[in-house]
Amino acid sequence: MATRMNQPEAKPWINAIHAYTPGKAKSDDGRVLIKLSANENPLGCSPDATAALVATQTSLARYPDPASTALREALGGHYGLESDQIVCGTGSDELLNLAAMGYAGAGDEIIYVRYGFSVYDIAARKCAATVVVAPDKDYGTDVDALLALVNDKTRVVFVANPNNPTGTYATDDEIARLHAGLPAQCLLVLDQAYGEYLDNDGPASFDLARRHGNILITRTFSKIYGLAAERIGWAYGQPHLIETMNRIRAPFNVTAAGQAAAIAALGDAEFVSKSREYNRIGREWMAGEIAGLSNHGLKAVPSWANFLMVMFEGAVSAETAYKGLMDAGYIVRWLPGQGLGNGLRITIGTEDENRGVVDALRMIVEPHS
Ligand SMILES: *Cc1c(COP(=O)(O)O)cnc(C)c1O
Repeated sequence: MATRMNQPEAKPWINAIHAYTPGKAKSDDGRVLIKLSANENPLGCSPDATAALVATQTSLARYPDPASTALREALGGHYGLESDQIVCGTGSDELLNLAAMGYAGAGDEIIYVRYGFSVYDIAARKCAATVVVAPDKDYGTDVDALLALVNDKTRVVFVANPNNPTGTYATDDEIARLHAGLPAQCLLVLDQAYGEYLDNDGPASFDLARRHGNILITRTFSKIYGLAAERIGWAYGQPHLIETMNRIRAPFNVTAAGQAAAIAALGDAEFVSKSREYNRIGREWMAGEIAGLSNHGLKAVPSWANFLMVMFEGAVSAETAYKGLMDAGYIVRWLPGQGLGNGLRITIGTEDENRGVVDALRMIVEPHS
């Protein structure tokens, strides 16, 4: 006889999910902190995007364009892509979830790299797929280790490039080698949330996705474009992949204001290059400062993104430093749940914020200086 429950019972694979932990903005006792925990753009967003959002002419009573047509056309023009091979999403988060849902289910396997983006684990478990975690190489993607885990049950491989939370980068050649080793029925999702921070912003991977039917590239307006509040992401791939995503996405998944802001943001190339350069200078400066603390066991993983993963291998633990930074007014990211209990991810902020967080860190590891 079936057991009778006195309340609805979630499916066991849903109960196995650890809900996403967002970067905090306040201390445990409620103080507002300088937020270096969510990889947001410290310069904000393009003033053109703000103006477009404010000027959105559509009535609030009207649904937005369900197909985000004007935004897809703007993206196509900007990146030289076929706009009908683009789908927009409620952040790239929605698109990552749809990619798993569209191509994997119970009995199938989804692979991601250890220290990969935490959403992949949630996306995979949500559709009852089996999660397979590939070992890393120096906190980054190890193509050979990943390929060694591929079998005839593998349906989706998630790779963030550059990777969050470690900032590592796999070259175009490495990605092409990864793709070449995958069977044609296995979907490679290349998550390029930080692609715009690279000097050479991704033409090789777009080209790979144009030529092969098992690559989906995801992008976001949340990072360099500084529009995280509006939730706008997009994906590019061959038509059959985009059809799947369109079949299962939420019908009105990008707001009218979000579509307008994103189009305007795309048009302000100057803001993007200024943000990239500002980030590069801040990141190089902070990496240099961390290198100066190597005698205290601090070591930054080389980063291609807008944050640094700092490992603590000396007397002061990452947890102690995390709490000390919070006392000093800075919130960074400590990720023990992802196996990174010995590291802190620090978003590159404004010049003042960078200086402040490094000074506070120095006080923590060199209390007597
Ligand atoms: C921030 C981030 C995203 C983007 O999330 P949105 O839903 O677009 O805000 C996707 N992937 C990675 C690796 C990220 O760090």
